[in-house]
Amino acid sequence: MKYRNPDAHGYYGNFGGAFIPEMLYPNVKELQDHYLDIIESEDFKKEFKDLLKNYVGRATPLYFSKNLSDKYQAQIFLKREDLNHTGAHKINNAIGQVLLAKKLGKQRIIAETGAGQHGVATATACALMGLECVVYMGEVDIARQAPNVARMKMLGATVIPATSGSKTLKDAVNEALRDWINHPTTTHYIIGSAVGPHPYPDMVARFQSIISEEIQSQLKEKIGRDNPDYIVACVGGGSNAAGAFYHFVENESVKIIAAEAGGHGISSGLSAATTALGSLGVLHGSKSLVMQTTDGQVIEPHSISAGLDYPGIGPMHANLFSQHRAEFIAINDDEALEMAYELTRLDGIIPALESAHALAVLKKKTFQKEDIVVICLSGRGDKDMETYLKAMK
Ligand SMILES: *Cc1c(COP(=O)(O)O)cnc(C)c1O
Repeated sequence: MKYRNPDAHGYYGNFGGAFIPEMLYPNVKELQDHYLDIIESEDFKKEFKDLLKNYVGRATPLYFSKNLSDKYQAQIFLKREDLNHTGAHKINNAIGQVLLAKKLGKQRIIAETGAGQHGVATATACALMGLECVVYMGEVDIARQAPNVARMKMLGATVIPATSGSKTLKDAVNEALRDWINHPTTTHYIIGSAVGPHPYPDMVARFQSIISEEIQSQLKEKIGRDNPDYIVACVGGGSNAAGAFYHFVENESVKIIAAEAGGHGISSGLSAATTALGSLGVLHGSKSLVMQTTDGQVIEPHSISAGLDYPGIGPMHANLFSQHRAEFIAINDDEALEMAYELTRLDGIIPALESAHALAVLKKKTFQKEDIVVICLSGRGDKDMETYLKAMK
């Protein structure tokens, strides 16, 4: 497999690996040594699939949008991850990792969260499976994401503010890592995207790969073949994209398109378009493309959507980009907003702002009328209503 899985050291081509402080080595090594045996075992798969079906509500529909298809002159299907319990694809990974933590004998889960979506998914899985849950969140994010903070608390999680630095996501990551170093035997750290030191990117991609597994069988049923001409997803760190691409990456007849957050425009200084602006660097434990100054300081990203407001991408995607296996298209804030309104008015589906970036690819590419285009609708827009209302003229 050229693109799908990393080598034994966690490398996808030139990207990946595990760049961690000495003190985290035992924790990460334990995961590296055991994750594959556990998650590929028949017992684990059975339990995981059962929860995805009966608790999360999978399989999510693969919805043929006649209205989008007419407008953009292609055969357009939406993979409805927005219909999952808790409203996005993140629950797939949270359930998988909490199950894994239980198999490893852990009693305590920690996570970091920016907008709170990953925190809510993790707190949900912990409530379900009876594990203690501690979520680190920047003080600034706690103030601006009050509804998700309330959800986490109601679910029984302890939310700890990160008060250093810019008091946002990267500071929460630092606090979570400090906690993990101090509780190596009892605690599992759940990373919410396809980023971090090996084995996280591969582990998260495997848990999310249910997305493309379902797309294959649903396409087969609907159109008699199991691969689309195009698969499209947005990339923050890259977990919904990794899941949507997973079963198609080795099939070069499937064109892969990743939407990244252009913010105010890639040359505006307010952007999160990592492939357009980034260079080789190490961020959060792996070597990948990173938005950084020439002396290696991480540049503060900007996107209207919290889930895409990240200065890096996972190593799998950095490799797909550098090998020209995937095309990356930057979608600006206003283009995503416009597309969110368009889908809402055309189909009665209010998408997450992140997902609206993937949908906006329809305005950037020209397709053939018979092309099968599958777009991953990663989440629902409830969390973005304030932004949507402000933008309404
Ligand atoms: C978090 C989030 C994303 C971005 O994360 P990835 O790991 O890149 O998938 C995209 N869409 C939604 C709805 C999210 O909540």
